[in-house]
Amino acid sequence: MVNSKDLTFEYIRRDENGNVESITKAVDGVNIHVEPGQFVAILGHNGSGKSTFAKHINALLSPTEGSLFIDKKDTKNLEKLWEIRQTAGMVFQNPDNQIIGNVVEEDVGFGPENLGIETKKIWERVQESLQAVDMLNFRKHSPNKLSGGQKQRVAIAGVVAMKPKCIILDEPTAMLDPNGRKEVMETIKILNQQEKITVILITHYMEEVVNADKVFVMNKGQVVMEGTPREIFSQVEQLKEYRLDLPQVTELAYELQKEGIPLTSPILTVEELLSQLTP
Ligand code: ADP
Ligand code: MG
Repeated sequence: MVNSKDLTFEYIRRDENGNVESITKAVDGVNIHVEPGQFVAILGHNGSGKSTFAKHINALLSPTEGSLFIDKKDTKNLEKLWEIRQTAGMVFQNPDNQIIGNVVEEDVGFGPENLGIETKKIWERVQESLQAVDMLNFRKHSPNKLSGGQKQRVAIAGVVAMKPKCIILDEPTAMLDPNGRKEVMETIKILNQQEKITVILITHYMEEVVNADKVFVMNKGQVVMEGTPREIFSQVEQLKEYRLDLPQVTELAYELQKEGIPLTSPILTVEELLSQLTP
């Protein structure tokens, strides 16, 4: 679904005369491979290049060097731009910037309408998408009155309505309260498991990646770790070096272990910890 080969991207800043003022290598030789149907997470401290990489996946940015193929389509090929954007939809941090309609169902219909889908089909898609994010009861509501989590689910429905094979979510829960975060994570899980949509989730919350098929850790534009959540969260010292935390329960188990309590590591869920602590 996603195949990057030595992907490098430089932001070039110029002064008013067009002279180069500075160059920032935001992505530096990244090789990321995602299979159809996978749930992949990307972690990394602020400024590590996650958003810049994400913007390549739906061809908002084009590589300075290297290449990126989405569903076998080269993102450098301008003729494939629309196909790529239809294949890979993007959800951003702030739902307020993504919702443009005055009524939920209209907002969700904008995407398919822009794709030139016939009206009857648009309404079918609106219905299906709102159902998939569990917001069908709100179809006639004004988005302004929804909670953050509900707004973000509407934004996700807007992307789902374009029937993408892949969805990239760039810190979709960063502005939400714990309840909203939970709602959105459940929605993402359903899209992946039931709708079989490939998910690429960028997040700061370690709890959100424990169910991922694969995790990539970025630092200074490079992929510095890659593996299953269990493999990643067993490398505590390395994660600290990249200024990343552990899921709370993993951290607790790690501290208990240091105190001499025998546990297999890493522990990823509360259930796992409980089952090992109770004889
Ligand atoms: P992340 O999403 O991991 O926080 P970004 O991809 O946003 O990282 O940023 C990677 C690097 O690129 C940072 O050093 C950031 O300052 C720089 N950067 C991001 N956007 C721009 C831009 N539009 N112009 C110049 N530099 C940018
Ligand atoms: Mg970012």
